[in-house]
Amino acid sequence: MSEKGTSDVRELLDEAERDIKDIAKENGKKPWYKRLSLTTWIFIALVLGVMCGLLLQGNPGFADTYIKPIGTIFLNLIKMIVVPLVIVSMMAGVISLKDIKRIGAIGGKTIVFYLFTTGFAVCIGLLFANVMHVGGGYTLASTQLEYEAKEAPSFIDTLVNIFPSNFVQPMADATMLQIIVIALIFGFGIIAAGKKGAIVADFVNGMNAVCIKVMHGIIMFAPFGVFGLITPVIANNGPDVLLPLLWLIIVGYVAMIVHLVVVYSGLLRAIAKMGPLKFFKGIAPALLFAFSSASSVGTLPVNMECTKKMGASDEMVSFVLPLGATINMDGTAIYQGVCAMFIAQVFGIDLTIQQQIVIVLTTVLASIGTAGVPGSGMIMLAMVLQSVGLPVEGIALVAGVDRILDMMRTALNISGDSVCCLCMNYLEERKQQRKAGAGA
Ligand code: ASP
Repeated sequence: MSEKGTSDVRELLDEAERDIKDIAKENGKKPWYKRLSLTTWIFIALVLGVMCGLLLQGNPGFADTYIKPIGTIFLNLIKMIVVPLVIVSMMAGVISLKDIKRIGAIGGKTIVFYLFTTGFAVCIGLLFANVMHVGGGYTLASTQLEYEAKEAPSFIDTLVNIFPSNFVQPMADATMLQIIVIALIFGFGIIAAGKKGAIVADFVNGMNAVCIKVMHGIIMFAPFGVFGLITPVIANNGPDVLLPLLWLIIVGYVAMIVHLVVVYSGLLRAIAKMGPLKFFKGIAPALLFAFSSASSVGTLPVNMECTKKMGASDEMVSFVLPLGATINMDGTAIYQGVCAMFIAQVFGIDLTIQQQIVIVLTTVLASIGTAGVPGSGMIMLAMVLQSVGLPVEGIALVAGVDRILDMMRTALNISGDSVCCLCMNYLEERKQQRKAGAGA
């Protein structure tokens, strides 16, 4: 691994360690209400929202006029940050690829492996969402979250439309696939420009850090947002609307567990010749850490330790895992696929096969742009919804239970990184052995 790459990883780990220490230190000084975690506050907000909604069932106009605007502000903030966040994080991802060239064939193979497994993951998500009918036959009774059906373009048009003819328009309209294409093209442009492009690369990396901070700030506002979103929904639709959420969680978990057990075990057996029991025993500490922290980046040190213990080399671990924590999110992909389907179904919208293909494409790309911190998958869900014209307001429904899904998707995200690392390690070892055999 290059020196720069190694120092980046070290910086990342140091920062995570500092954060954990700061939180522990500050927790001791904080008053009780600040000691409650954000997850607890979101849950409290959800319960309060449901209660208020029930009380206001006779007068939903009040909820629409005075409480809904809080939720609208939250959604507006999400929509506002998602465009710059996608642009700079995708560009930063591409820029970081310049180290990969030095790593040679492993870099290419790792990226192909990541993209392939993520694509497979979203297909599994969509499959389970379709077969298990994730919306549970529920359709929103009210026009609370309005949706205007758009005519679906043809497949060829969909492909052609991915390439923008204008630099600014896609950003103003939040046309996500076009934005991703712009980010990829300019990201590679920065690499191609070499030294002259270095200043832009620094700017992009700086902006990336800024966008992640802003996103953190918006997520802190989530308890208010969730309250403002759920109250009018309950006031207009009654408590029945909550039942499909339970089904959503079940469908999401089933799809993720199938991916974890079937796909990962299969890949490990086929490529790394490793038994699933050995893997799950080895990865268990990282799985638990990811499940409780809901952060891939936070879990990175534990994941590195576990993967090394399972036999991966230092070099492989320190290249494949940090890259995976940044760009490889199989759990997030499943979540986004299942949620997109859920939102479509409860809004009574039929997604065509073309639209589902666009979801697969956007989700794979969105996973590159999803930061490995709690809640970022939900922000990126806005982008997936926008790519097929689904109402972003649908996030109102899933926001309250997001953390429950986040825990499992993060566990899956980090396992996928470890599986890839073990496979790459095996392939590399075999290559070295063959080389040694040929030389002897
Ligand atoms: N929390 C996830 C992670 O860190 C990202 C997401 O929200 O989907 O991997």
